Amino acid sequence: MSSDSEQRPPTFSAEADSSSRVGESVSEYREKPGVIDTDTRLASAGETEAMWPGRPARRSVMRSLARSATDSKSRKEAAAYRGDHSTSHTRRDLLTGDWTIFAPKRNERPNDYESKNAPASVAVTTQPAVDADCPFCSGAESRTPEAVWSAKLGDQGAPPIENGATRFAGPHVEVVAGEQDGWDVRVVPNKFPAVSPSEAATGAHVDRHELFPITDVVGGHEVIIESALHAESITEYDPAMVYMTLLAFRDRIRHWRQVPGINYISVFKNCGPEAGASLRHSHSQLIATSLMPHHVRTTMLRCEHHRARTGCSLACDLLRAELAERSRLIDRTDSFVAFCPFASRFGGLIRMTSVEHQPHFDLMTDTSLDQLASFLWRVLSWVKEAFPGKAFNYLLHTCPPGCQQPDAFQWSLDVFPRLSKTAGFEWSCDCMINSLLPESAALRYREIARKHDPRNVLLTR
Ligand SMILES: [Zn+2]
Repeated sequence: MSSDSEQRPPTFSAEADSSSRVGESVSEYREKPGVIDTDTRLASAGETEAMWPGRPARRSVMRSLARSATDSKSRKEAAAYRGDHSTSHTRRDLLTGDWTIFAPKRNERPNDYESKNAPASVAVTTQPAVDADCPFCSGAESRTPEAVWSAKLGDQGAPPIENGATRFAGPHVEVVAGEQDGWDVRVVPNKFPAVSPSEAATGAHVDRHELFPITDVVGGHEVIIESALHAESITEYDPAMVYMTLLAFRDRIRHWRQVPGINYISVFKNCGPEAGASLRHSHSQLIATSLMPHHVRTTMLRCEHHRARTGCSLACDLLRAELAERSRLIDRTDSFVAFCPFASRFGGLIRMTSVEHQPHFDLMTDTSLDQLASFLWRVLSWVKEAFPGKAFNYLLHTCPPGCQQPDAFQWSLDVFPRLSKTAGFEWSCDCMINSLLPESAALRYREIARKHDPRNVLLTR
């Protein structure tokens, strides 16, 4: 976030504010020029009033927290704010504009369908090995389309790679744009794609009625097979496999970004049937499409609006606020941070991103991806330990090819266990209900992270 932090209004720095501006009231901040008014300028006044009648000042509470760490009155306010665990409330994700209802009491409800003896959604394997019936295992290459990318571990005794000014001491990997013997990670076109290849577009889907819009959707749908050996969770493998998987993400996003007409690229993982997986072998997917989904467009526009108004990336501002607030942070390295976002749509959601401003995941270096792989492996291990046997998803957000202002964007990777099912209310209005507060989830994850690596885990207030 270096470039943004230099341009942003100085009054939003927790470090700068902690020793001054003590005890400033909510109304004082509302009137100051140059301060980011994170709620009403991104939501219309009408939207905010409709969702939260009579409560226009919430936006200033977080800022007040960051500014007033040394002030006892404000500390009480902060504690009251953070400690509001018992009653339902809504929080807004400023990136997407989505409101989520937090209803901690719902965790206490009985569940006839959840037996203590119910089998785990995600099986725990002891040692990955080839499964002769699995189309993703080594030896079954003929059961999938031909690979478009593959990687295998090279000679690990070779000297570090000199790459310009940097020296990469991570795993030696041999990457080819196609098949190779002895592969460890392999990318193949999906046999059952969600989108048609460009050459298959017929042009038959054209608007014939203004009330029934229709159009072709073209692009690519690929499967990233994360090991030649059979296991359901990527945490069963060595972190080197995670590194090669991230290399695959980066290289295939780069490929699709250059294909004309592609506006959006989604990279995601479904692990376990409740998360949408149909095959057990650990894998991720990439869908590149001419369609710019409405939700993505909305987020992009909000980020661009914020950047135009403040000169800052909205995601970076939110991260700075999370770093100042601390209660939802889990862990960080020199380059990356993991936290449970303030307005998480799903219980237990962990967001990973880089500390430095970086819109494009596909511009990450080998060194950065090696570090990220180790961090991601740890994050997934925390999720597995905190919610044993639960299915999970992860979603990689990177600046879409169709974005006009890339600097407004920030890449992130969201990991979340599937703790509850989307039910009637959520389907009726697209407003999620989350019964696990992100502060509680972060506390749980921090305890696990601290147990495994006490040196690196942040202390919180
Ligand atoms: Zn397999």
